[in-house]
Order: sequence, then structure tokens, then C-alpha cells
Amino acid sequence: MTFTAINGFNVEYGRDVAEGIGDRLGRTVVVTDPDVWTWFGPRFGGPAQRVIDNLDLEPEFLDELAASVESDVTIVGVGGGVAMDVAKWIHWRRGLPLVQVPTLPSVNACFTRMTALRDDGRVRYEGDAVPEVVLVDYRIFQDAPVELVRAGIGDVLSCHTAIWDWRLGVLAGHEIGWHDESAGASLRYVDGLRAAAPAIHDVTEEGIRSLMEMHREIGWRCHVMQHARFEEGSEHFFAYCFEEVTGRTILHGELVTLGVLIMSAVQGNSPQLPRDIVAMSGTRHRPEQLGVTWEEIDATLDRLQSFTVAGNYWHSAIHESFDPQAAKELARAALNF
Ligand SMILES: [Zn+2]
Repeated sequence: MTFTAINGFNVEYGRDVAEGIGDRLGRTVVVTDPDVWTWFGPRFGGPAQRVIDNLDLEPEFLDELAASVESDVTIVGVGGGVAMDVAKWIHWRRGLPLVQVPTLPSVNACFTRMTALRDDGRVRYEGDAVPEVVLVDYRIFQDAPVELVRAGIGDVLSCHTAIWDWRLGVLAGHEIGWHDESAGASLRYVDGLRAAAPAIHDVTEEGIRSLMEMHREIGWRCHVMQHARFEEGSEHFFAYCFEEVTGRTILHGELVTLGVLIMSAVQGNSPQLPRDIVAMSGTRHRPEQLGVTWEEIDATLDRLQSFTVAGNYWHSAIHESFDPQAAKELARAALNF
């Protein structure tokens, strides 16, 4: 069964749906990653007036870039999250039409309105982008390494731990109040993910579509609610803390998946459910598969509580009687399948 979003940006699904778009759009400025453009460029049709592949998310860089773009073009984002975010910024600053062609399903940047700026080393969200259409080309995803597609479950699976943290926060009298409909939707996304997991594993058209439809609705809901409490909790705080502790990152969807597996065990929150979904979708989760060491995971868990409190993140399982030693033991059991 295909998951169908209730609401979200215009999207067109199909095999080769992005083939030759340069011919259809007229004057275009393409925002992309060099390695993506190497293989997508010949499929674009064309020619693009300009190809921007030197990408950065610093606000000053982005504003200079936006100012340098001609005023009679369509902005086309082609690539992963950074390309989507830079394209969104130019579109929003200049009021130019935007078409997005995601080549990675591991983040939902093509379905969210704000750009994730890097401002003095911190992530800050700003902007309000609405594309004419998001083109999800099955061939692009099916040509990609399967790991990249299977990593796409992370930002949906996160609903499982996030909703638990949200409830905990409400019971403890903290911040963002409960919202039944969003909480119910969050559970529906996890159910949808479980149903779609075998198709995501096999990277079928139905699997790609279900996954992207979940990202589409989650992106829309973040805007309507003006917060991401229903899909972001201690599993993301684990991911951010990992990045601080190690000074590097790995594929976002896989890092968040790691966070869900560990934090659902810490929460005592049906850890078998995310394990089943991860197993069915074949998402990499063992440290050795991800090039992550146990020393790095342990150091992240040691730092996690002070990091989350200092960063003023939402109330979560990390704030209440969190024991790093116990968490390390739970983590070993949680990732061992
Ligand atoms: Zn995320």
C-alpha cells in the first residue's frame, strides 16, 4: 500500500520525469553539487544559463549569490540537501520560480520551506520557499547506491522517539503543548514506514513514492505547526551531539536511525518496532557499516546530557535521570542485529 500525503508541495512522480527539463523550462540557473552534475548534466537538456556548484550555507555568501542571479530565470535545484537549500534561498530572496529535483531521499529539504543556514557554526532556519514543483524521478533514485535510498527512513523513523519525548515534556510541564492531531499523524507515519519498508528495501517505485510522500507531509506539517516536535527529539539531539563530539558527520538519515535505535531503548519505548523497520528496509545501522567506532558512540553518550541542556533543546528522555553507563550497555544490545 502506498502512503499518500494529506498535504504538501506540488510533486510529480515518474520514471524520467526530470529528463530534459532544461528544454521545458527555458532560461535556467542550476544549483547543484559537482558530482551530481557530472551525471545529471547530460540528462538536463538545456542549456542552463549558469550552473552554480560551489555551495555554502553561510548567509553572506548566499545573499551575494542571490544578488548575482539574473531576474528572468527559473532556479533549478538538483542534488542533496545543500543544493535544495541554496536553491530555496535564491528563489526566496529574488522571488524567482523554483523547481526542485532531489537526487537523495535521505533528507526532506526539498519539502521544507526554510533554509538551514550555517551561522557562526550553528544551524539556523530562515526563509520561506515554495517550489512550483518537486520532480521525483524514479530512475535517479534507482540508479543511486541502495544505501542512500534506504537511509531515507531516518527522518520518518524519528517520529517514534520524538513523540515519546514530546509526551514526556508535556507531562513535565514544559514548552510546546500537546496537539492530538499531530501526535496521531506522527504514529501514522511510523505505521506507514513499516508498511513501506520492504518496498524501500527493494527500491521499487512504490517504495520511493511512499517514502517521499511521508517526507512531503512531514515538511508541510513542520510549517503548519511552526515546530518539528512531532518528528525531532532525543534521536536528533544524539545526532547533533555526535557531530559536536567527533567534529564530523555521516549520512543524516543513518545517523538519525542510529539515534532512534539507541534512544528508543533508553526510553523503554517499544525498541523492537524501529528495529523491525530498520531490518526490513535494510538500513545500515551497525557501527562498522557506518564507519563509526564504539569510542565515538560512547563519547557521544557521555556528552549527551550536558550538550542537550547547554543547547537548550526540547525536554526529552536525556533530561530525566539519564545514565550514560546504562545507555552504553543498551546501545550495544540495540545495534546488534
Ligand atoms: Zn533530521
